[in-house]
Amino acid sequence: MTIQPVRLFGDPVLRARADEVDTFDRELQQLVTDLTDTMHASRGVGMAAPQIGVGLRVFVYDTGDAAGHVVNPVFDVVGADEQTGPEGCLSIPGLRYDVTRAQRVVARGVDVHGVPIEFEAEGLLARCVQHETDHLDGVLYLQRLEPATRKQAMRAVRESEWFAAGKTVMSAAEVAGSRAESGRSE
Ligand SMILES: [Zn+2]
Repeated sequence: MTIQPVRLFGDPVLRARADEVDTFDRELQQLVTDLTDTMHASRGVGMAAPQIGVGLRVFVYDTGDAAGHVVNPVFDVVGADEQTGPEGCLSIPGLRYDVTRAQRVVARGVDVHGVPIEFEAEGLLARCVQHETDHLDGVLYLQRLEPATRKQAMRAVRESEWFAAGKTVMSAAEVAGSRAESGRSE
């Protein structure tokens, strides 16, 4: 078990497009293990590799009902139904805002051995797939907010103790502590 520090808003790794994985080795297995351990220690429902400083297209999830990982994920929206609800991010601790996402998606990718994966997700898991895939494109959920809410959120970020202190990394335990105040995060 190797719990890694969590990168915070302001770290450039979170704004960069992550690279496709093309080597399925022990290092990749270790990355998936580290991500899973760090997600659990942060008490999150999902976590993408850039959040622990690794610019590779990998995410893990654990909604309580479903858990796993996806390497080189893509997704297709199924139907036109949307969901609007509170979303948080382990890299923006302590804050949550309503985000509108597709209600249902089909996620595709490969596993740690390069074996194809495909699953249909709805509700929280669908939200998680969209949030984590955004991370791999350097997109944070703040960018998905309505303009007025986004302005309010950016003000809250600037007023956060960690941001004001210039912190771009936090221990998983500290993130978990901030989550206790704000609910689940990805
Ligand atoms: Zn996130």
